[in-house]
Amino acid sequence: MKQNGAKQFILYSILVTIGIFIFDLLTPLGIAGGVPYAAVVLISFYLPKYSHTVIAGIVGSILTILGFFLSPPAPPGIKLWIVLVNRSLALFVIWSGVIFVTKYKQAIEQRRKAEDAFKQANKDLKKYTDELKRSNSELEQFAYVASHDLQEPLRMVSSFTQLLSKRYKDKLDTDANEFISYAVEGANRMQRLINDLLSYSRINTKGRPFEETDCGEILGHVRANLHVAIEKSGALITNDHLPIVMGDASQLMRLFQNLVDNAIKFSDKEAPRIHVSAEAKDNEWVFSVRDNGIGIDPQYHERIFLIFQRLHGKEEYPGTGIGLAICKRIVERHGGKTWVESEPQKGSAFYFTIPIRGGKSDE
Ligand code: ADP
Repeated sequence: MKQNGAKQFILYSILVTIGIFIFDLLTPLGIAGGVPYAAVVLISFYLPKYSHTVIAGIVGSILTILGFFLSPPAPPGIKLWIVLVNRSLALFVIWSGVIFVTKYKQAIEQRRKAEDAFKQANKDLKKYTDELKRSNSELEQFAYVASHDLQEPLRMVSSFTQLLSKRYKDKLDTDANEFISYAVEGANRMQRLINDLLSYSRINTKGRPFEETDCGEILGHVRANLHVAIEKSGALITNDHLPIVMGDASQLMRLFQNLVDNAIKFSDKEAPRIHVSAEAKDNEWVFSVRDNGIGIDPQYHERIFLIFQRLHGKEEYPGTGIGLAICKRIVERHGGKTWVESEPQKGSAFYFTIPIRGGKSDE
């Protein structure tokens, strides 16, 4: 409460107290003269300190007792004990008021403190979220600039090493041939990594607005795009009915394609058997891409979704280690989450969710 307001309430309290005391002194009955002091105690609720209430209680009590001695004697017929009981009752009411007001003040203060703490926590959370957003977008910008600007010099390295290989292959000694092929291979691999990094950094910044997208159709395109790998591996891809969702069609295609491509690539001795399904659960579609491949040890289930994390050498299974990180980011942009259930040699099931009524495009 503001200083002036508090002063005003103290003044009111003093005036009311004097008024009650005068009334008590002028009333011959003098029976319940002390009870109105409880009103002063109640007024002290509007004063900031607990001590104001206690002081109101003490002053009220002293005046109640003084009133007993100073007020005119009780009319004949009224016994002394009745006067005493009534005065005690007044003290009881005053101190009940003190307890009530202080407890109430305490509860309000606790609530205010909790609200302040909540507001502060919200403020902190907003600050951290803003910082996180800023550092994320800086990182995105950095990845974009780095991968974009690296492309040009890398293209030069790649084309000149290829030219070197074409012109001088077999004209130099065998060591030189080997070194040139390493350089060509290194440059090609670096180009793939940079392209992947570039597409990873573009998921949020260059995504298209969401529209109704038929996942069944998307899977059809994925089958067509991967037909060489499917034929080569003898993969059989089956699916349940897949729904129409709100999303970025080209990103959803990339998502399905990465998962199906991995399911073909990480197959065991048997030909890949892949099943794609979707199930509606709690306002979201839970999609799964299940395979009968090499499986993944549970200790790596989170790591494989991080950028450039691979569990095998590139000689064993080709790849850059960014496919699942891209999948995760696409799903997050659509308002869903990604996870895997798998054990070594028992195949894998990759899951992701998409809100049924569609997440909003972040643009
Ligand atoms: P990449 O396929 O280029 O290696 P990903 O990010 O797509 O990169 O996958 C990361 C790692 O997760 C892979 O190297 C592989 O070890 C594991 N993985 C992904 N999909 C499967 C799968 N279907 N079966 C077994 N392991 C998988």
